[in-house]
Amino acid sequence: MIEGTINFLKNLGPQQDRKGATSSDDLSKMTEFSIDEYRPMKVIAIGAGLTGVAAAIRYRQYVPNVDISIYDKSDGIGGTWYHNRYPGVACDVPAHCFAYTFEHKADWSACYSPGHEILQYINHVVDKWGVRSLIKLQHEVVHMQWDEPSSQWIVRIRRPAANDPSTFEEFEDRADVVLNGTGGLSRWKWPDIEGLHDFKGPIVHSAGWDFGGSTWEEDVKDWGDKNVVVIGLGSSALQIVAALQPKVGKLCQIGRGQTWVSPPFAVPKISEMLGRELNPSDPSNLYFSEEEKISLKESPEKLFYFRQQLEAQMSSGHKITLRDSELQKASRAMFTEHMRKSLEKKPWIADLIIPDFSVGVKRITPAPGYLEALCADNCDFIHEPIKSITSSTVEIDDGRSIPADIIVCATGFDASYKFPFPIVGRNGVPLNQKWTPHPRTYVAACTDGFPNLFFAFGPNANVGTTSILGMIEHHVMYSVMATMKLQRERLKSIEVKPEAVDDFDDVMEEYFKKSVFSESVPTWYKVGKADGRIVSLWPGSSLHCMRALRYPRWEDFNYERLDKTKNRLFWLGDGMTYSEKTFTGDRTWYIKPNYVDVPPVPES
Ligand code: NAP
Repeated sequence: MIEGTINFLKNLGPQQDRKGATSSDDLSKMTEFSIDEYRPMKVIAIGAGLTGVAAAIRYRQYVPNVDISIYDKSDGIGGTWYHNRYPGVACDVPAHCFAYTFEHKADWSACYSPGHEILQYINHVVDKWGVRSLIKLQHEVVHMQWDEPSSQWIVRIRRPAANDPSTFEEFEDRADVVLNGTGGLSRWKWPDIEGLHDFKGPIVHSAGWDFGGSTWEEDVKDWGDKNVVVIGLGSSALQIVAALQPKVGKLCQIGRGQTWVSPPFAVPKISEMLGRELNPSDPSNLYFSEEEKISLKESPEKLFYFRQQLEAQMSSGHKITLRDSELQKASRAMFTEHMRKSLEKKPWIADLIIPDFSVGVKRITPAPGYLEALCADNCDFIHEPIKSITSSTVEIDDGRSIPADIIVCATGFDASYKFPFPIVGRNGVPLNQKWTPHPRTYVAACTDGFPNLFFAFGPNANVGTTSILGMIEHHVMYSVMATMKLQRERLKSIEVKPEAVDDFDDVMEEYFKKSVFSESVPTWYKVGKADGRIVSLWPGSSLHCMRALRYPRWEDFNYERLDKTKNRLFWLGDGMTYSEKTFTGDRTWYIKPNYVDVPPVPES
């Protein structure tokens, strides 16, 4: 009893300490600033793809007094869509869903928008929102280090030297917040094949396609008598085979493993909305007419409805990724029938590539025209390991020798999320070391030990079934909201608690057990391994991800204050807003439409 009382009194200690601390705090400096007298924030976003462009727009919209630079090593804006120019490159979700939520596009030429149109769209958004000047191209981030005294990231950047662009110079920039938007599929890799570089003809990787023409069609216009070998059986290879087969003398695809080829998603829905029948197997049939484009352009309501219907359909497919779900079973039956029917002329290919694993384990690929291309007379398909490559042939393990004038390696990417430059966090810990054997994050947005650093479309931020645009935008906004909090509450750092990262880890481990992704099949979702950690996918649907990110759980973070005070409300300042203090600016913002949320009036 007495012991209990003593403990009780001991427990009062912190309260007394706290009281003492508060009273000894110098709060007089509070009167030196107004609540919305926001300090300047310097933000760096890495990568000028869909993520970096969204970041430029949203940071400028939401964070007052912000100075944001977007650094990209390439010489063009667009990320993936700048680099991937291979034949047939297109998005693999319906075109109208592959656009930012804030800028619909009416005049996509086809149901699955070609890559160059996506690139044009990104550039259109950049110009419409006037963020081109914030994007610094040919600026490669080569090093990042957290600087404890200043609570900033010191970022080293390499660019062509001003006085001699054939050489490079490096300079240092600093940022209060860094948003890494470099994505998981930006580092392509050559396949590990003996003699690969002994080949005397042109040999390209899908993501490094560069034959000098302004379009891939121009590049291949003289390939009518060429023997072309395409290596790979992923989404890129399928699009390449479908596009190249009609343009070349002979095409031989060499694949391994299996893949589900779906009927093009949403084509029946598009047919229904257009009021005409589209033939999903014929890519030339999946184009919109001028009248259809104009009618969507002239009516924003119609365009929104069109997109909404397609989004709704895409967002109804998540259950396909749950083991043994009804949708999984139905899709498997439907895809099998689609593949067998489309490969009727060469059923042996169907036997080889129809998977014995569930739909969705690997990225589902619609690839309009692919199966039809395989059936063409000038197309061959080999499903044996490659032994080696010589100056003019591809040698197969079974003894066949395939003559080749051109080789296209659609052999994938380094999807390990090991960044190609050091990111050194608190206590000198490099991120790549921390992320061994695999990345660990908190809601795919940040990780402990790396304050004021956020990710968008980083590890575990992808999804297998819908467009990723909504998720990218929500991750960008997560970083924007964190930056606003730092600025508003006069904080110098925000760092997720390690136990919150552990919890997200546990959630993922548990979630993926019931998903098809945990089946033992090598995929880039698991960095090419058959088993182990899924590093690319969000543990849930894209709608689920967006809901999770909408309202950050700020209590999962640790903070450091900018001011030497223990008073958590120091940021309340002098009791005024800046416009009242200075008689400048707007003092009626609280009744303006973009601030006021008008509640719906119930219908009587
Ligand atoms: P991927 O899915 O990793 O496919 C690479 C292919 O190359 C696999 O079939 C792989 O076989 C094969 N391969 C690798 N080395 C090989 C070798 N030595 N011999 C024979 N085959 C070899 O790469 P990707 O096709 O470039 O697609 C990656 C991702 O990019 C897609 O899943 C998708 O998310 C995205 N993408 C999107 C679009 C779009 O429309 N938005 C288009 C293209 C790509 P194994 O699987 O057996 O290793």
